[in-house]
Amino acid sequence: MERLSIVVPCFNEEETAEHFYQAASAVCAALPGVETEFIFVDDGSRDRTLPILKELAGRDRRVRWLALSRNFGKEAALLAGLEHARGDYVAVMDADLQDPPELLPQLLEAVRGEGYDCAAVRRVDRKGEPPIRSWFARQFYKLINKMSRTEIVDGARDYRLMTRQMADAVARLTEYNRFSKGIFSWVGFRTKWVETENVERAAGESKWSFFKLLLYALDGIIAFSTAPLAVASVLGLVFCVIAFFAIIFVIVRQLLWGGSAFGWPSLVCIILFLAGVQLFCIGIVGQYLAKTYLEVKKRPIYILRESGGGSGDEKQG
Ligand code: UDP
Ligand code: MG
Repeated sequence: MERLSIVVPCFNEEETAEHFYQAASAVCAALPGVETEFIFVDDGSRDRTLPILKELAGRDRRVRWLALSRNFGKEAALLAGLEHARGDYVAVMDADLQDPPELLPQLLEAVRGEGYDCAAVRRVDRKGEPPIRSWFARQFYKLINKMSRTEIVDGARDYRLMTRQMADAVARLTEYNRFSKGIFSWVGFRTKWVETENVERAAGESKWSFFKLLLYALDGIIAFSTAPLAVASVLGLVFCVIAFFAIIFVIVRQLLWGGSAFGWPSLVCIILFLAGVQLFCIGIVGQYLAKTYLEVKKRPIYILRESGGGSGDEKQG
């Protein structure tokens, strides 16, 4: 019998965890030739998520839970789950039922029957999402795909099912700034894309504010592209060339007509503009430096407070 591990990061999901478990286990019961294990990762929830997960584990031996010591973010929670998954196949899903469990048989078939290493879901529309947010999201995908050689698929959800081998590869990338859409693509392997319509959250609300998403997008760009660093040098070069010709112009004008001490307002504008460009470029360099700083500290990506479920053995630590 092969085993499928389903990794579910949960942050304040008291309203959805139970629904998710019901829906997913109904689908999994019908999966031929695999037994399922659930790995719920409580990402430092401040509501009743953890007690609910423990209760689920008490009812069902297939449920295991991990509790992180604080909120480390979804990417860290995913890594924790991947590292603890023991299955021959590993699926990652959101707890809010935005990743329809009904697709699991199709994903499993793609990996087990059709020879893919990974089957992933992308949504073909963004209905139910604020239009401004969709617009920004689309621009982000255009930009990052121009700037980075790692392909980031527009509309890709973090819902996928992969082989043990690929899950191990993903877990081996221990970078601190985790942008999983990039990481899944970077490790390679053959991926089948399954398309679906956007599903709205079953209950509760999204943990992503617009500002959080913007920072996440910046993280993604910086983690998978060094193009912004080149932007800084190209801008600098362009301005040097402009300045060179401007100096020649000023000298020639002085020699031919003299008395060129006018136009200081334009000078102030130029100085302000160049100062802005310089600050912008230093900012870009600073971003990379900050990321490098965090990486070299080699801090663990998450800290486990306790875990349990499965065979019933609860561990502290
Ligand atoms: N999540 C998490 N830690 C966080 C934020 C989110 O583990 O800091 C989990 C959350 O519980 C859910 C999944 O990540 O299972 C996706 O979150 P959400 O539905 O809020 O994101 P959206 O679907 O709006 O992109
Ligand atoms: Mg969601």
